[in-house]
Amino acid sequence: MDRPTIPSICPKTALCSNLDRRDGHLRFAGQDAVDLARTYGTPLYLMDEDRIRYNCRLYTEAFQNCFPKGSRVLYASKAASFRQMCRIVRQEGLGLDVVSSGEIHTAGTAGFPMDLVYYHGNNKTDEDIAFAMDAGVGCFVVDGVEELLALEAEACRRNVRQKVLLRITPGIDPHTYDAVSTGKVDSKFGVSIETGQAEPFVGLALAQPHLYVAGFHCHVGSQVFWEDVFERSVMVMMAFIRTVRDRCGYLPEELDLGGGYGVRYVESDPEIHIPRKIASVAETLYAIAKRLDLPVPKVLMEPGRSIVADAGMTLYTVGSIKEITGYKRYVSIDGGMSDNPRYALYGSQYTCCNASRMDEPSEMRCDLVGRCCESGDVIQPDILLPETTKRGDVVAVCTTGAYNFSMASGYNRMLRPPVVMLKEGRSYVAVQRETLDDMIRLDQ
Ligand SMILES: *Cc1c(COP(=O)(O)O)cnc(C)c1O
Repeated sequence: MDRPTIPSICPKTALCSNLDRRDGHLRFAGQDAVDLARTYGTPLYLMDEDRIRYNCRLYTEAFQNCFPKGSRVLYASKAASFRQMCRIVRQEGLGLDVVSSGEIHTAGTAGFPMDLVYYHGNNKTDEDIAFAMDAGVGCFVVDGVEELLALEAEACRRNVRQKVLLRITPGIDPHTYDAVSTGKVDSKFGVSIETGQAEPFVGLALAQPHLYVAGFHCHVGSQVFWEDVFERSVMVMMAFIRTVRDRCGYLPEELDLGGGYGVRYVESDPEIHIPRKIASVAETLYAIAKRLDLPVPKVLMEPGRSIVADAGMTLYTVGSIKEITGYKRYVSIDGGMSDNPRYALYGSQYTCCNASRMDEPSEMRCDLVGRCCESGDVIQPDILLPETTKRGDVVAVCTTGAYNFSMASGYNRMLRPPVVMLKEGRSYVAVQRETLDDMIRLDQ
């Protein structure tokens, strides 16, 4: 399946095919962004449901074509976790990757089948483990020896056999930002092959009578563009599988390659053709399996960002515009790092535009800043907006579907924006706007 061609919303913003413009207004998923801002208020998270489903299908169709039966795409719910997301990815046939009791509860109360839930995390507490087993979580991705023993103890107490994957650190540096790189030897996640710790970890896991070891998991990083990260993971993991087979006769059924394909936030980011990428991973997998005389395992992948990022947009209303003569201009909006901390956290780039004035040239250099009490509350520095930008205009920040809603905080007691879904020309509320009373609900 090829992506539809990308119409330009303005000469510099040909980001994604769900963006266009009409009558001077930005349109998202075919709907007028200024009208949506008026209807639902700002700040406002928009999510294009059709695009989410399209992105899911890019993966599921490629998986059907490329990998053995029983292979599965898991949506990494940390990218955007709320109940309607769980329902949508369920309908698209994906499983779910969760990292907390909160994400398990979200999925469970949305009716997500728990046998398709994989539970990650480098420090699951005893309470987490008990909660997840109560909920019937299908598979634990075990991060280390302590968790392994805690799981065995809990499974023994319940007299069940719990399915697990073992998280292995393949020692690959994906060359992305440090905070989102997890496959290097010194990562806080998983057990390293390089240090010789992974093999005894597998041995120990296989010796646990109440754990069923279905296979291995690895995850190298996020926002990965670097050509062959998944191919290299496959090579390292298959070599490890061969060693383990030779030493203890164990063959994994499942190999989980984690998540991480990058998305385009700005024009200069490359576009990743996911089906082609997956085909290339499959080619490597089949070749190396043959070379090492191993059966091809079922493959799992855990995309988060690439399912939801380009399905999202945030709308804000412009407030103060401050010009410091001879220095710079600040355009302040009615949200900030409380709904999008990603620039403050990792210097993330975004494409921004004045949704109310799409026909006007963007020639005013400015920083788009929030209204939190931090100088670091910047949504995006050094962007171009029209000179005519004024209080009341609607500004759009594109590609905010991943790690915005899910990283939102109550800093400064700012209210979290609602999530409004756009589907086939209609819109509906998937998560309501937080109210002042919601905010104080737990205060004594
Ligand atoms: C974050 C994460 C993912 C998802 O990564 P994306 O970059 O959002 O695709 C998948 N698996 C694990 C273990 C993760 O930590």
